[in-house]
Amino acid sequence: MKADYYEMLGVSREVDEKGLKSAFRKLAMQYHPDRNPGDTQAEVKFKELGEAYEVLKDPQKRAAYDRFGHAAFQNGGGGAAGGFRGDFASSMADIFDDIFGEMMGGRARGRQAGGSGRERGSDLRYNMEISLEEAFAGKTAEIGVPTTIQCDECAGSGAEPGTSPQACPTCGGVGRVRAAQGFFSIERTCPACQGRGQVITDPCGKCGGDGRLPEERTLSVNIPAGIEDGTRIRLAGEGEAGLRGGPAGDLYIFLSIKPHEFFQRDGADLFCKAPVSMVTAALGGHFDVTTLDGNTSRVKVPEGTQTGKQFRLRGKGMPVLRSGQAGDLFIQVAVETPQNLSRRQRELLEEFEQISSSENSPQSNGFFARMKEFFEGLSES
Ligand SMILES: [Zn+2]
Ligand SMILES: [Zn+2]
Repeated sequence: MKADYYEMLGVSREVDEKGLKSAFRKLAMQYHPDRNPGDTQAEVKFKELGEAYEVLKDPQKRAAYDRFGHAAFQNGGGGAAGGFRGDFASSMADIFDDIFGEMMGGRARGRQAGGSGRERGSDLRYNMEISLEEAFAGKTAEIGVPTTIQCDECAGSGAEPGTSPQACPTCGGVGRVRAAQGFFSIERTCPACQGRGQVITDPCGKCGGDGRLPEERTLSVNIPAGIEDGTRIRLAGEGEAGLRGGPAGDLYIFLSIKPHEFFQRDGADLFCKAPVSMVTAALGGHFDVTTLDGNTSRVKVPEGTQTGKQFRLRGKGMPVLRSGQAGDLFIQVAVETPQNLSRRQRELLEEFEQISSSENSPQSNGFFARMKEFFEGLSES
């Protein structure tokens, strides 16, 4: 007996979308395989949570579940596991960057209010392009990020060692000044200290009073196997250093996957087209296809194979993110008509034609006559 999806997520049956998402996020973080290495129970729980969330976040599926319970998804609709697999990956991508960021960084975030002169560093964006093979296998990427770090000379204060920033004499350290304008008295940001309330009378020689220095840092980023094109990975606190001791910004990695010469991807499934010679298609035979794992798989071509016939190699597609499962590889064949025939080949084919009967090509035999009849029948009625 499967547990109730609402109970699994610890929410009431009236829970709204927001409450549902936050409940799921909290539990997903708790049972995430990266936080529970080797704990198979946590892994199972993590997958169950994903399945529950997948159903409840979709209004249609949720309505079906409310009416029929788990039975709504047992038969038809592709079966529970198969049906949700693709969707599950996409909902994970939804919250993936959040989890990923919090797991990687764990550094405290928060914007510092003005006044102290501390400013949060900018977020950085890094565009990373990987191959389909890399998305298949997963990798650890070393990236060089141009960024700024806190100045070691002044510890980020911007003031020359031995001195310290002084309260701004113009605004008395408030950061705002009042000015009379006609009948009104208006308040505006202090022009002398740009609202910081402090001025550096003796700027640090190394950073020029900025409190930070440019640097290229090398970061190592874990790209999990099965990652989707367009995934955004947040590395909390790995962005630009804050100004004058403020907190660092975040680094966002925008991941894209290069188009592949042979394979097209749709979720976890891969598609590829393969030509088959006319003779192989007619007599039957086989071909060997190289898959993304570098191995070859033999595909049997049955006698009388037509263009458009699709072969399926189970489990030879892309891995599904952190699930241990994989999609399928579909190969669609196109029969290649021979070209540049020699005299001898031509003779053989002509001879072949002479001894052929309508059974050899039931599709084309009489096709145009049937087509003509069809249209004549239409004009009569
Ligand atoms: Zn001021
Ligand atoms: Zn400095």
